[in-house]
Amino acid sequence: MAAFGTVFMPQMIQARFSDNAWSETSVVPSDKIELHPGAHVLHYSSTCFEGLKAFRHEDGSIYLFRMDANIARMKQSSALLSLPAFDDAMLKGMIIDIVRQFADETPLPPGSMYIRPTHIGTEAAIGKAAVPSLSSLLYVLLSPVGDYFAGGSTALRILLEENGMRCAPHMGMVKSGGNYASALAPISAAREKYQADQILFCPGGDVQETGAANFILIDGNEIITKALDSTFLHGVTRHSILTIAKDLGMTVTERNFTVDELLERSAKPGTEAALSGTAAVLTPVGTFIHNDKEYKVGNGEAGPTTMRLRQALNDIQWGKAADTHGWLTKVDV
Ligand SMILES: *Cc1c(COP(=O)(O)O)cnc(C)c1O
Repeated sequence: MAAFGTVFMPQMIQARFSDNAWSETSVVPSDKIELHPGAHVLHYSSTCFEGLKAFRHEDGSIYLFRMDANIARMKQSSALLSLPAFDDAMLKGMIIDIVRQFADETPLPPGSMYIRPTHIGTEAAIGKAAVPSLSSLLYVLLSPVGDYFAGGSTALRILLEENGMRCAPHMGMVKSGGNYASALAPISAAREKYQADQILFCPGGDVQETGAANFILIDGNEIITKALDSTFLHGVTRHSILTIAKDLGMTVTERNFTVDELLERSAKPGTEAALSGTAAVLTPVGTFIHNDKEYKVGNGEAGPTTMRLRQALNDIQWGKAADTHGWLTKVDV
């Protein structure tokens, strides 16, 4: 099977901002864009994106999951990057139009259609290092994806990093390219040196998140996860999992916690840890690596609560459980 995110639908939908106005949207080939080599995005990283999914239910109908939350976050990212503002309705219409066009290509569960809205500053102005781009391009790519866990759901090895940080603290809640570039070298080094799958960034001991997923700790009936602030990405999956956990009668505690507390709780039998994000939903963490020592989380394998929460979220997405929070938007095809 092709690697996640390497297959694209042949067309995408786009809108351009210039002269203080958005163009009409248009459906265009998805294999190229025309960009001036001096475009703002290529030099000063005026770029942000989103990731959400469309699901096919058993009766063939297509549903978008929490589109409004992703659109709200995309608007927030655009504003924090001084990119041109757009209306919810415009991006919503673009997403629905392009998903409808490729409705027949939406895989059945456990597959889905991954949707990647992207917004970039296009003004050709290399003198604008500290000035916003006056023009931009907003486009929505589609990528059909299969079962993320086709190879089995093995628990991850995570390096705890207390010295570095993923990105600048005021940029954490922006889903912007530069943040991933900034985390790349430390993650590559952790792979090489410790065979770690990811780094959990814990600057000064404060447990935050990994390169592209949020972190939750499950201790018995309680979920502990960092409280929202500007230093990390406010995941839609994180919010969905916390909501479902409350529905299931679990205690959800959003507060800051340290690496010391994390390792202390992880040593107890029955403790679980997981990463949350749209691509993988919820991925179990089996091992922490800290100061060259390895620590098993619980018994080191995928835990039952992690699996139960993941299934509960998938059941809503796949139309097998009631959508009691109004998270699904039906796409009329
Ligand atoms: C996208 C992302 C997440 C997860 O967000 P979801 O909305 O759950 O997909 C978490 N952390 C980072 C850094 C991300 O880029």
